[in-house]
Amino acid sequence: MGKLYAVEIVYRGIFQKKLATNISRAIVLAAHLDGKPGISFGRYGDSPERNGIPAKNFAIVATDEQTLQEGMAKYEPKEVDITISVDDTLCKGVESWAWYGLQPINKLTKPGGTLIVTSMEPAEKLIEMAHNRETPYNLAIVKGSRSFSGLWVYKDDHTDVRVLGAIAKVMPELVSLDAMKKTILQEWKDPVKVASAEKSYNRVTKALVQPGQGNPETPYQFELPKWHEMGEGVAIPCIPVGKTVEDPVTHVLGGIRPDRNPTFKKFSTRTMRPVVNFETCIKCTLCWLQCPDTCFDVTPEGLYDANMEACCGCGVCEAVCPVDKCVTMVAETEFADNGSQWETWRKDSTGYLQWLNQKIESRPERSHGFRFKGQYQEQVGEMLQIAQES
Ligand code: SF4
Ligand code: SF4
Repeated sequence: MGKLYAVEIVYRGIFQKKLATNISRAIVLAAHLDGKPGISFGRYGDSPERNGIPAKNFAIVATDEQTLQEGMAKYEPKEVDITISVDDTLCKGVESWAWYGLQPINKLTKPGGTLIVTSMEPAEKLIEMAHNRETPYNLAIVKGSRSFSGLWVYKDDHTDVRVLGAIAKVMPELVSLDAMKKTILQEWKDPVKVASAEKSYNRVTKALVQPGQGNPETPYQFELPKWHEMGEGVAIPCIPVGKTVEDPVTHVLGGIRPDRNPTFKKFSTRTMRPVVNFETCIKCTLCWLQCPDTCFDVTPEGLYDANMEACCGCGVCEAVCPVDKCVTMVAETEFADNGSQWETWRKDSTGYLQWLNQKIESRPERSHGFRFKGQYQEQVGEMLQIAQES
């Protein structure tokens, strides 16, 4: 039997669908040029995709046809040589919507394999975010911000070819730089993209992650019912209304914390989360009314506390809040836990405000490309500059 290589591309559904497809398809085309057969495909359970919910593409390559066929005789790879995360906030973990709990980003990465991340963050910060494990792996960083597009637009900011250049560097036995460059020219007909891939090949940074390094938490899991435990027909259990909220200082009860889906949490479904200034909130109720995921807890004094079990990071609350900087979306890379902001503020309002201002200042822009007219074009320029310089 020959050798089989597997690559997974972990991405944000819809926003990065085209980006992930471009990467997995080009890996296989380049491997063909090197004389290796392969196949690229999306994970069955991710379809239809939802905005921002983590999804996966795979590229499987072998040294011969028979090995490829044997390797494909399974639903999806159990381990991969390279994991690619095209959004660094996914280093915190991956919850797909068809679903089995929180998976560490490096769960499928083979011992000694490589996790490639597109990020502006230093290696230490990304290593801290990813769950620790018992075997070593490599972290490779392609410098760049999160490249998001929409359902109908693709932001052609060279992230795809820059990742491809990095793959040729970290695993030349999978695909050579020469084949990658030829494929990029054939597919995109743009020599500037070939140059971007080659720059990335030369500049990708690598760090060895030792056993035990990283986030020590046990990833959230739940038990799915077995087939013989299921009743006849379909029963969809209701979610109870919820309970009152207790003030952590005065112990006054009031407001409401709606009960939430007991299994589907949304810890890794967001790239950004809202931070709330409870001192400037005018209790207008707009965030609470407009939140598509009912994720605001109403506190005893009538404030609104975004619950991180339920928030998908859509940014609607920031958009509808009428008070300047009362709700601000901040990148997930800035947070180490999912605790209640309101409880923290009640216990130490001065400390909370300092924390809030520091978060707002550090706020990197989400690279969406469709929030206002012209943003798409603006962001392509920024990304190309990063591609040139880093
Ligand atoms: S970002 Fe705001 S509106 Fe969107 S789900 Fe989270 S709390 Fe709700
Ligand atoms: S929209 Fe802003 S001002 Fe209105 S209740 Fe929500 S946080 Fe307060």
